[in-house]
Amino acid sequence: MNIILLGAPGAGKGTQAEIICERLSIPTISTGNIIREALKSGTEMGLKAKSFIEAGSLVPDEVVIGIIKERLAKGDCENGFILDGFPRTIPQAEALDKMGVVIDKVIDIEVTDESIVKRLSGRRVCEDCGASYHLEYKAPKVDGKCDKCNGTLVQRKDDHPDTVLSRLEVYHKETEPLKAYYEKQNKLVIVYGQDEVQDTTKLVLQALEA
Ligand code: AMP
Repeated sequence: MNIILLGAPGAGKGTQAEIICERLSIPTISTGNIIREALKSGTEMGLKAKSFIEAGSLVPDEVVIGIIKERLAKGDCENGFILDGFPRTIPQAEALDKMGVVIDKVIDIEVTDESIVKRLSGRRVCEDCGASYHLEYKAPKVDGKCDKCNGTLVQRKDDHPDTVLSRLEVYHKETEPLKAYYEKQNKLVIVYGQDEVQDTTKLVLQALEA
């Protein structure tokens, strides 16, 4: 099954993607993670993306479309995949269609802007493996350390309050129109994000089975 997870930054796409990935044994492709890796290792693409990601704006379409083309060509995507954070603009969605990628379901996780700001300010990620935590909702077992790899937990630069507001603005302007795009294709399912992760997961799994 080829799945797209839509939703504002901080709506919980990454966490839900991890769970679906385990259940269905299909890989999660997160353009944000791929770009952050490239930034860390100082590749040319990483350098190109740096100023955009740090300002909370979108990396140009041609860069992310290139990333996705390359990633989807890998063998592990043959039985399906979960796209987390792609597409984020109409031209990106059109590029997927043009590539002949058939999407089965688009799950849109809806969370209010107010909760997004609260969620992102408490989010911490592992510097080493990228696992995501929240100081209040999903605290690590040991303060500041990743449960999975014992790496150090840090706050993403783009989770700082000013950047969060511009990311939300970008989301409403550029990404939200994708709901209508996929609604027209009869692929959109809306899930309302709940306070407890497992409650949202239940709804997401129901949406996948429907
Ligand atoms: P994320 O981890 O999905 O919130 O992505 C972090 C940042 O990476 C975004 O704020 C963008 O700067 C960049 N990014 C990730 N995915 C995309 C995309 N599909 N289109 C443009 N920029 C992206």
